[in-house]
Amino acid sequence: MNSKRRFQWIDRQTVGTKLKLANLFTSGIVIFLAGVLLLALQAYLSGMALLEQARTEAAVVGNNISAAIIFKDHASAKEILGTLKAFEDVAHASVFDAEQNIFSDYAKAAQHDMRTDTQGGLRGNAYDFSLHRLRVSHPIDYEGKAIGTVHIDTDLASTYRRIGWYALSISIIMLACLTIANMVLRRLQQFVTAPLHALAKTSTAISEQGDVSLRATVDASEDLGMLAKAFNAMLDRIEKREIELECEIEERKRVEVKLDRLAHFDSVTGLHNRYFFHDRLGSAIAQAQALHQRTFVMFLDLDNFKAVNDTLGHDVGDELLRVVAQRLRDAVPAGDTVARLGGDEFAIILENVADGSTGETVAKRCIDALSRMVRINGNEIYISGSIGLSSCPDDAVDVNALLKFADTAMYYAKNAGKNTYRVFNSSMQGEAQKRFAMNGNLRRALERDQFVLQYQPQIDLVTGQIFGVEALIRWAHPDLGLISPMEFIPLAEETGLIVPIGAWVLKSACLQLKAWHDEGYTQLHMAVNLSARQLAEDTFVETVLDIVRTTGVNPRMLELELTESMLMDAGDAFIAKLDTLRQAGIMLAIDDFGTGYSSMSYLKRFPINTIKVDRSFVRDLPDSAQDKAITKAIISMAHSLQMRVIAEGIETDRQEVVLTADGCNSGQGYLYSPPVNADEISKLARLVKPVDIPLEDDRLSARRAAIATKTRSSHERV
Ligand code: C2E
Ligand code: MG
Ligand code: MG
Repeated sequence: MNSKRRFQWIDRQTVGTKLKLANLFTSGIVIFLAGVLLLALQAYLSGMALLEQARTEAAVVGNNISAAIIFKDHASAKEILGTLKAFEDVAHASVFDAEQNIFSDYAKAAQHDMRTDTQGGLRGNAYDFSLHRLRVSHPIDYEGKAIGTVHIDTDLASTYRRIGWYALSISIIMLACLTIANMVLRRLQQFVTAPLHALAKTSTAISEQGDVSLRATVDASEDLGMLAKAFNAMLDRIEKREIELECEIEERKRVEVKLDRLAHFDSVTGLHNRYFFHDRLGSAIAQAQALHQRTFVMFLDLDNFKAVNDTLGHDVGDELLRVVAQRLRDAVPAGDTVARLGGDEFAIILENVADGSTGETVAKRCIDALSRMVRINGNEIYISGSIGLSSCPDDAVDVNALLKFADTAMYYAKNAGKNTYRVFNSSMQGEAQKRFAMNGNLRRALERDQFVLQYQPQIDLVTGQIFGVEALIRWAHPDLGLISPMEFIPLAEETGLIVPIGAWVLKSACLQLKAWHDEGYTQLHMAVNLSARQLAEDTFVETVLDIVRTTGVNPRMLELELTESMLMDAGDAFIAKLDTLRQAGIMLAIDDFGTGYSSMSYLKRFPINTIKVDRSFVRDLPDSAQDKAITKAIISMAHSLQMRVIAEGIETDRQEVVLTADGCNSGQGYLYSPPVNADEISKLARLVKPVDIPLEDDRLSARRAAIATKTRSSHERV
């Protein structure tokens, strides 16, 4: 654990410090070992020198003292031994005779304790090192005969001292060397660590600044230089990869943004799309519930967009959608969602609304915004929208229900004459359900023959004669009584049931017309309404001609009513169908003229015989100067194209007077008769059966009055 911690400490050190420590440790050990060896050598050499010296001293003493031993001259012997005083280290000397008895001795004043009176086992030429002294023995000869031995004890203290000084000097030298080594190492270490520092600095800068274009500048050529080169090369690759990655990420982001736009935005208007709208509405509902606030959903359908698209082209149509989108964005509070659900349908979410009237305020603003004229490529376009409003939590708290209710309310706005808004209420839901149930019933009604036709007379305004009738369908419901076509025709069109229903109408009308003609009312024309779905059928012309043939009716007395929108949808195949009908002698009329996107150009393109001026232009006559101008313009235009004009919805004499004055040929309306049963028509037609009516004004008026009175009274009876 301890050693681990120690290593951790070392691990934490810089490479420089580690290098320094390693070098110091190595050189320390080397210097220390060298010192120890030198010291040992020194001790050995000192010992040897001391031994040599002691031996020399012993030899000299032995040579000099032999005569004294022979002559047993102790005094001389003492004197000779006394010369040893000159040698500092000699502590004691003893001379033994041949019998091993001490003959003489010498002791340095302070060294008596070292004296030995015995030879201590040491004989002849020998020596003995002990801790504190060196004893040397030397034989004393006289003429080749051993006469004694001299022992000299040398004190080792001064030798120790010398060695001590030597050790101290070596230590100081060692330390000095280490210090110098340390200083040198420090300088040298910089050469080693500088490139490493440069690499480390570069790595740190890169990680801190994230700038991989930085490079390490290292001059070394070998190992570290190579390392630096490798490091820089690695950075080059990282940088390249990084640039590639950035490009890749950029590209991916662009694709993601594009996908996100495609997934959430409408490509034409830049508004949110249906998918985003559903998501957003889901969260808006959740938030409204959490905050106890209201969220409004507005469903907006443009009223006459299709006409613009078809007559002015898709580019203008797209531009118009963009203008509408911008106007809606401006009309809706910032932060609320405006989306295009597809085609000419837009939807708006008003979130976190505290005031219940906000929805209507915004709806009004949207309608006003749309009603301003739009100019695109020099075309002045008037557009309007119908809006349905539903709110959470008042009406529903789920996305689909809210949308359905807003859609239902929007239909009510359309039915109320378009260019307006309606707020959803629960009675509408009942209506919606009724519509749904009606779909099933409609099919059964056709099977059970519950449809009936009524006929509304068309009057020649000049002669006052009934020259024709318009066949109008009703549903004779066993429980609900007569149901208006306004209630079920749109549904029949949606479901396609209008095709068999339309065929039934045409056949019944033709049979009736044939019957009247057979009765002698040969002046009667029959107008039959057509729906777009019927005309779209490949077998349509065949069906009509077949009915005409089988009923035996005169095709010149049959008039098919088309609407402007049908003509605007027309392609070549459609025109070909109309041409075929015309060639067969069948007449064609444009119903409700002026309510669609009226374009004079198509009047020329189609083989039209009659224009029916919509009753919305007749209603305010003669008071509305604008309507007066419009009806007059339509009448004169129709005449210049050699077409008959029928004014629809004439309810008052005043209306009739203006229209007649403006040259209108014919009229249809409650002033003469509402739609009535077939036998009522026979009675009315009988009134005008004589064909030779003089064209005098007073008689004409009288006849017209008579017709009106008759039809009104007969209608009252129905
Ligand atoms: P439309 O073809 O424009 O028919 C004229 C409508 O105006 C009729 O309503 C008629 O009753 C009404 N009307 C006539 N004179 C006056 C008047 O003086 N004042 C007012 N306020 N209204 C008047 P109706 O019968 O309810 O028919 C409504 C629409 O239903 C028709 O409009 C037509 O578009 C459609 N329709 C009726 N029968 C058929 C049919 O057999 N097939 C198809 N496809 N549509 C039909
Ligand atoms: Mg009609
Ligand atoms: Mg009409």
